[in-house]
Amino acid sequence: MENKNRIGRREFMATSAGALAAGLGSACGRVPRGEIEEAAAKVGRLPRRPLDRSGRKVSVLIGAADWAPEAVEAGLLCGINYWHKSQKWAAGGAPQAILKNREAYYCEICVDRVRGNHETGVIEEEPDYQFVKQAVERTGLRYFDDMVLHFGYHNLAEHKENRDFIRAYERLKKEGLVRHMALSQHSYNGNIKVPGGEDRVSILTAVLDEGLYEHAQFAFTFGEGEALTKFVSQAKSKGFGTTAMKTAAGTVRMQADREFMSTFPPETTPHHALARWLTTRTDLSTAVIQINSLEEFVDTYSGAGKPLRAADARAIEMMTAYANREVCRLCNDCMSHCAEGVPIAEILRYERYATDCGERERARKLYAQLAKRADACQACGSCLPHCPQGLEIPTKLAAAHRLLS
Ligand code: SF4
Ligand code: SF4
Repeated sequence: MENKNRIGRREFMATSAGALAAGLGSACGRVPRGEIEEAAAKVGRLPRRPLDRSGRKVSVLIGAADWAPEAVEAGLLCGINYWHKSQKWAAGGAPQAILKNREAYYCEICVDRVRGNHETGVIEEEPDYQFVKQAVERTGLRYFDDMVLHFGYHNLAEHKENRDFIRAYERLKKEGLVRHMALSQHSYNGNIKVPGGEDRVSILTAVLDEGLYEHAQFAFTFGEGEALTKFVSQAKSKGFGTTAMKTAAGTVRMQADREFMSTFPPETTPHHALARWLTTRTDLSTAVIQINSLEEFVDTYSGAGKPLRAADARAIEMMTAYANREVCRLCNDCMSHCAEGVPIAEILRYERYATDCGERERARKLYAQLAKRADACQACGSCLPHCPQGLEIPTKLAAAHRLLS
């Protein structure tokens, strides 16, 4: 049975503790090299497929530079060749495997708006250019393969009129510091801080039609809406790459829910089923799944590129129903219906960071910066009919406030 390659959570913890107690050397923080190699062997080599029209082939699941160092090392051993947010590897922090064989890997840099956050900031050529140039020096990576406009455009007009990011990219490309251009795209419809904000599918479609960007990243997971699923298929037919982000919608809270897990198919886990589903049942080019440890890496990435079994299909069905009931999909449809201006999707995004991504401190910091928080909700109910999932928004906001305050 294919599941034999996966290491049990308890078994892994016991091995890890035993190795540390025995004083074995560590190649990566506190985790012995042997343990990293063992984990990589359990996952095996990840298959690759074309990313986009550039002809590059990438692993069916990619890695992220903000993973635990031991998970990064295991990912490299498994052949993960595309690394998200590589600018996070500060001086000396980039893995030696990449620095020594730079051309064998694709390292991406995400460029944020300046003079504000993703809602209030602007896209400006010179700061974007300088940011990438400095990151090339700081990381020692020599160049970035992909320059990504982080969070994307606010609306179609901005995409059409603001060419600053594209100009910065062209300058950097001439200097050999970047090679490809991509964007990650969020939805801004109904966001009161972004007047005229539009939904991600409209913007992604305009980007695809224009043909300048080579691939895009966006939140996408099981139970996704029809419009985005259709876009993914259309992109594939045109050789435009798509990468699913924020894929682990609610999987961590599912695992903590004993009642839910008591009926979960015992042959699989939420993360493992997710990896199989993303890599074999969608038209995506690739995807990234948030993991926080070597143990999670093994559990999750061992499913990459493997067929969905009956147990996984049942798991995905259960996970979809659970996520629809419990987890905000960040569609923004409710936002314009709140007279109090509560940033519902933003608050529930931070709740996801804290609950599903193990990033409670970051989530609390972001929450503290909001001009209006969940306690501004008057429980009037006006937003409720506009949530396609039928989420109990006031209740969820109150819980998020308790979690993040
Ligand atoms: S229930 Fe709360 S979040 Fe929803 S519209 Fe009313 S005040 Fe806004
Ligand atoms: S609460 Fe519902 S309508 Fe609002 S962003 Fe989340 S999923 Fe969309």
